[in-house]
Amino acid sequence: MKILVTNDDGIYAKGLWDLAQELKQIGEVLVIAPDREQSGVGTSITVSQPVRINKIKPPIAGVESYAVEGTPADSVIFALRLLSKDSVDLVMSGINEGENLGNDILISGTVSAALQGYFNGLPSIAISVAIPTTEGQFYTEAAAKLAGVLGKLACQGELPQKLLLNVNLPNLPLKQIQGIEVTRLGQRSYYEEIKEDDKWKRGYYRILRHNPAENEQSGTDIWAVRRGKISLTSLHSDLTSPHSPPIEELCQALSAGLRILT
Ligand code: MN
Repeated sequence: MKILVTNDDGIYAKGLWDLAQELKQIGEVLVIAPDREQSGVGTSITVSQPVRINKIKPPIAGVESYAVEGTPADSVIFALRLLSKDSVDLVMSGINEGENLGNDILISGTVSAALQGYFNGLPSIAISVAIPTTEGQFYTEAAAKLAGVLGKLACQGELPQKLLLNVNLPNLPLKQIQGIEVTRLGQRSYYEEIKEDDKWKRGYYRILRHNPAENEQSGTDIWAVRRGKISLTSLHSDLTSPHSPPIEELCQALSAGLRILT
């Protein structure tokens, strides 16, 4: 059993090593992660320049570890295509410091690393813990234990091969967690504030993301985590809308405009 462990918070993030430590008890762990924080880079892969991979001395003994000067998705691709050809059984991404709920999954490096595993036909799991609302501790114990249970299930062949699982936990000690729910993606929307950053040079701007407006509709990932529960959302990569906006009429108008027969 070989488990690939990665993240988007960077190779020295606490959550990554808490995850590796737990999974080391179950199988061989390979850690490969960006050399710096890459939160929010989404599914980005580096194709325009070479990427340096450095073998590092891991903070926990006996774990082969690499830092990549690239993205979370790059890290998984290098792991599967270069460092551990055809021998990875499970991909785990996290433990991310900060939740990945609702449409966060579309920009999340944590989820995107798991997505690369999923594209390669491996059971792949993204694990995130909500950020504290006030200054506080980042609790990873429950997330690490949950990863351990999932690892054991994978070891026994009890995880489906075609699995992309997005797990979010409240930022609570294990004993205070209120349950576990299968959820669907909720809706949250951000208002991005733009600030000029002229500390070094004029013409530089920053995108500031504030707390999103959330819809806590029952059965969603947001709803579960806000109630102190663990949220399990099964994802797939087909973004085709199941709803039906007036796209048929648009198609007709386009075919008329372009004089193409439908
Ligand atoms: Mn992150």
